[in-house]
Amino acid sequence: MSTRAVALLSGGLDSILAVRTLQQQGIEVEALNFRTLFTCCQDQASQAARRLGITLTALHAEDEYLQRVRRPQFGYGRGANPCVDCRIYMFQRASEYMRQVGASLVVSGEVLGQRPNSQKRRDLRVIEWHSGLQGRLLRPLSAKLLPPTLPEQEGQVDREQLHAFSGRSRKGLIALAQRFGFAADEIPSPSTGCALTEKTFAPRVFDLLKMDKKNTPWDFELLKVGRHLRLTSATKAVIGRRADENQLLEYLAGRPDSRAAAVLQPANFAGPTVLLVGTVDDLALETAGALLLRFAKDPPPGPQVLLRRDGRQSLRPVDHHPAAETAETL
Ligand code: SF4
Repeated sequence: MSTRAVALLSGGLDSILAVRTLQQQGIEVEALNFRTLFTCCQDQASQAARRLGITLTALHAEDEYLQRVRRPQFGYGRGANPCVDCRIYMFQRASEYMRQVGASLVVSGEVLGQRPNSQKRRDLRVIEWHSGLQGRLLRPLSAKLLPPTLPEQEGQVDREQLHAFSGRSRKGLIALAQRFGFAADEIPSPSTGCALTEKTFAPRVFDLLKMDKKNTPWDFELLKVGRHLRLTSATKAVIGRRADENQLLEYLAGRPDSRAAAVLQPANFAGPTVLLVGTVDDLALETAGALLLRFAKDPPPGPQVLLRRDGRQSLRPVDHHPAAETAETL
């Protein structure tokens, strides 16, 4: 019976090479692609799976995943990325999947020492241990630098055909891709594709965690849209920067799980949508109206906004307000 493996496939170069390395040995691989609220590049994973000729199953991170973002056991990286906790979560799910489909190992493109937050030798051990995959988590690109896994010991995987890459350089990996016959335009450029790693995104996440203890998945989705300004410890304003973001804010405000407390839109001029989250009082409304004016193009004399709040709509005059100038951008 042929050996079956489940691979985590992001579509990045490392995961592609990990899969191709096992395919070279005749191992049957199927792929999982994890999708969280913060990841992009789903097309990249689908394209990679097509190129590798393997089936791809998308797994969406569940609510439990956000708990790891809120309170990671192993801390954050440079941004708000809890990479070790995130990897443990992904491998736990992959482990369940491996058992369901009767595979004998899980494969990942991790390279020893490539990423400072999750690929140090100790991290790799911690991830393997906490995901319940002891001896069944194979990193083909660095396998020769790591203890042999059970499938290697049992002869299901030929260790000699695995690799000994380490560190941040991509040179050796690119050479391997070329040996495998990948054209230059088939080699993806390096990217985590995860907003949590972005330095500009992290302050929004930490602000949410600190200021709004009742945060829900909806709040995390909102973090990806528009310009965020903290008005007071209890109130935040989110302003669309383009037409598509204005539409997205409207959509998020109208969803059944919405936590938007008020929405303001220009009534007699062109300008952004402003969404308020948290406590809404007169000062918050005045500041939100002034923010809308600040980012509007050529508002006419007597500008008005349409205010939606508590299921009601009303027209409201807006004016400049000093609080709109001093609100902290997140
Ligand atoms: S970069 Fe993002 S998706 Fe990747 S391991 Fe870290 S937290 Fe998870």
